[in-house]
Amino acid sequence: MSTEDTSQAEARTADQRRRTIAELQGLLRARRPDTRVSVLGAGSDDLVAGREYLAKLAGGGWIVPTWPVEHGGLGLAGPEAAGVRAALAAFEAPDLYPWLVGIDLIGPTILVHGNDEQKARWLPGIRTGEEIWCQMFSEPDAGSDLAGLRARAVRDGDGWRVSGSKVWTSRAHYSQRGLLLARHDPSVPKHKGIVAFGLDMAAEGVTVKPLVQMNGDAHFNEVFLDDVWIPDADRLDSPGQGWRVALTCLTFERGALGGGLGVTEDQVRRLGARIGTDDPLARDRWAARMSEFQIARWTARRAEEARKAGRPPGPEDSGSKLRGTAMIKQLASLGMGVEGPAATVGTDDADEWQSLFLMSPSLSIRGGTDEIQRNILGERVLGLPPEPRVDKDQPFSETT
Ligand SMILES: Cc1cc2nc3c(=O)[nH]c(=O)nc-3n(C[C@H](O)[C@H](O)[C@H](O)COP(=O)(O)OP(=O)(O)OC[C@H]3O[C@@H](n4cnc5c(N)ncnc54)[C@H](O)[C@@H]3O)c2cc1C
Repeated sequence: MSTEDTSQAEARTADQRRRTIAELQGLLRARRPDTRVSVLGAGSDDLVAGREYLAKLAGGGWIVPTWPVEHGGLGLAGPEAAGVRAALAAFEAPDLYPWLVGIDLIGPTILVHGNDEQKARWLPGIRTGEEIWCQMFSEPDAGSDLAGLRARAVRDGDGWRVSGSKVWTSRAHYSQRGLLLARHDPSVPKHKGIVAFGLDMAAEGVTVKPLVQMNGDAHFNEVFLDDVWIPDADRLDSPGQGWRVALTCLTFERGALGGGLGVTEDQVRRLGARIGTDDPLARDRWAARMSEFQIARWTARRAEEARKAGRPPGPEDSGSKLRGTAMIKQLASLGMGVEGPAATVGTDDADEWQSLFLMSPSLSIRGGTDEIQRNILGERVLGLPPEPRVDKDQPFSETT
């Protein structure tokens, strides 16, 4: 983006923000300057408050500004959509993390790969907060090498029987549906034999076991699938296209993780105010973090523009995720330093920096690790020789 493009885009964002704030005035309460920002679901989830908030906003399309109007969105592009998000950030809101997998990742994936019936059946529940979705990709032996997944789907009449196990499934313990990847054809190379489903988490044979983390949050789960029957109507795209579905979803995930992760400019400015002007070294570190914060936002915006222009999932999202991750880690570390011992024990004021700090290492893992993003950049941007992938063209059944 040239400087002029950037300033034009900023002006469009600011204009949309103003208009949306005016629309939301009567509906929501203005955010107080000292309101803490929730950190990707760290802590307890208030499902009642989140559902009430989403239901209240459902009619206006503000929660899903980029979705088409016929599916309850506003049909907006990059800068205007950013303006709507900035306007929402000006008001008090509960932690929406439980819904974000559906709203930011899976809803947009259904828009790309779902048929009309699925869009009509699934998108309203995601948008209004009635249905929480989780992402059922990773397995004990398939993380970075996701295409090596082993959950097995076998055709059974007008449906499928699926068995296997998933792990690190965020918020599966209260999800109504999961975007599930399974292998339906082991006789073809690993990327080609995958099928995707919108699994009903209440189906017989689905067992969810929560895993507890170091910050006390029971964020993710193991999910066991024991001969679960899934109607063919819940299959997303064609059998064999599951890998494309996964890539679409991961692209949206990297985009969502890249742009600052719910950390607001207000929050960064508040930290600056706390540092004041007496400590030039801390001030200097803060100024660097503020620059990185803006760069992360613009990089995420560039990735979003590339997607909007119809370019296939590309390295922009990997660059955006890497930058966003590095920025949050540095910022959280500065916040901890400024709060000092209070941040270690977690007093009220220091709590948000402690939560952010404890959550931040996970950003280098979820949505594809830093190393995997660097591989993508190395191969697709720098033109470095690709990693040896000996099993790429071999039938999956011969590689295990
Ligand atoms: C907070 C959090 C939430 C998550 N939520 C979900 C979820 O909701 N749904 C879901 O399906 N998954 C989820 N995950 C799982 C996540 O996607 C995987 O952890 C991630 O893809 C890495 O896989 P892995 O843990 O199996 O590590 P591995 O793939 O075993 O990697 C181990 C290490 O080796 C490195 N490595 C592996 N391959 C290469 C390579 N080719 N080149 C260089 N280095 C390499 C990795 O970078 C890493 O450092 C979540 C993870 C976290 C941390």
